[in-house]
Amino acid sequence: MNVLVLNSGSSSLKFQVIATDLDRIREYKDERLCWGEVEGMGGEAIIKFQPRSGPSKTLTAPLRDVGAALDYIVRFIASDRSGVPEIKHTGDFNAVGHRVVHGGEMFQESARIDDKVLKGIEDCIDLAPLHNPNNVKGILAARELFGSDLPQVAVFDTAFHSSIPEQAYLYALPYHLYRRHRIRRYGFHGTSHRYVAFRYRALRGLTREQTNIITLHLGNGCSAAAIRAGRSLDTSMGMTPLEGLVMGTRSGDLDPAIVNFIARKEGLSPSETDTLLNTQSGLLGISGLTNDMRELQSELKEHDDRRVRLAIEIFCYRARKYIGAYLACMDGADAIVFTGGIGENSPDVRARICASMEWAGLHLDAQKNNDAIGREALISAGDSKLLAYAIPTDEELLIARDTVRVILGEPHPS
Ligand code: ADP
Repeated sequence: MNVLVLNSGSSSLKFQVIATDLDRIREYKDERLCWGEVEGMGGEAIIKFQPRSGPSKTLTAPLRDVGAALDYIVRFIASDRSGVPEIKHTGDFNAVGHRVVHGGEMFQESARIDDKVLKGIEDCIDLAPLHNPNNVKGILAARELFGSDLPQVAVFDTAFHSSIPEQAYLYALPYHLYRRHRIRRYGFHGTSHRYVAFRYRALRGLTREQTNIITLHLGNGCSAAAIRAGRSLDTSMGMTPLEGLVMGTRSGDLDPAIVNFIARKEGLSPSETDTLLNTQSGLLGISGLTNDMRELQSELKEHDDRRVRLAIEIFCYRARKYIGAYLACMDGADAIVFTGGIGENSPDVRARICASMEWAGLHLDAQKNNDAIGREALISAGDSKLLAYAIPTDEELLIARDTVRVILGEPHPS
């Protein structure tokens, strides 16, 4: 099956085409045929396109919305110019898999999209007003383009965390607020945490039940997950992605009283305060320079800027604090797994996070850690009781696999 995987944002559309089916899944023979991104939808958009083999292409076109963007990329992939011989016309796409940010309490696993599921995703807009509307637009655009007979599947960022128990997902607020408004921890990045947990157990030859790890997804958004017996037991993001670790532009945890305090002192409306916490805080807010960890690290090397150093230190300190908390919550773990742009590519950040953790049995191998950039690797020393791994994430692969399994009626995709 050629599965078109879509991640539909406010002004961007990321896509991949992955050829997979039940046999390929079993034999690990899924093939990524092409991938890319449309940026700047709404005006003159830039389309970056990479076929499996051959050079990448950058194109421009006026694309007013996600419908126009999808139409453009699907026609381009099907054309001779794309270098994707498996797709000769739009009928060669067999299914569409969508990344959907919020599945609320309704979706505990990936779901084939029909009118009821679409309504459910729309019902979650209240919980994810910035994300779910774009996901819905992506689904409607695909339906419009391919017709309603082409199967579409929604894979939710929240679903993996639906196993979190009440004591971890309830906030200590008046209980009726949970009953009335479903205010609780949902967690995000679930597909990424699930993917690296799956790779970890494949690398070690373990079963799901033997998978007891702490996963750290450190990208622009950052989250930690405590995974016990292969299931999410707790995670650092909350009702929204704002809670938890320090991120590129998000504050992560803070005293909730600060929110009103800032609003009052700075004369900001609730939504302006929300924007400040989500887009002007984190690494960017502390450093005053950038949300980009790579830039911060080169700035630190060249100028030893105090606020840049602080930003990196606070980022790593918070991550270490969560590792400690999760070790306590899950009665110890077997491994820490790093993923996401920073987790996969920055030996320095991994070393800072794992520094002085010998008390917990964690001891990094400096050489292995330095060598592990953008690839799967064990990075802890031979005598480390708590193992550490770097594992590049691949959410699109899981979305494509879930799409196939849901369509073919395989229960409980893993
Ligand atoms: P997103 O959450 O948007 O998918 P990514 O997972 O791509 O983001 O992560 C982006 C972050 O990864 C940025 O802060 C970027 O600087 C960082 N990053 C990428 N490569 C490196 C590197 N070699 N060293 C340090 N940080 C890196």
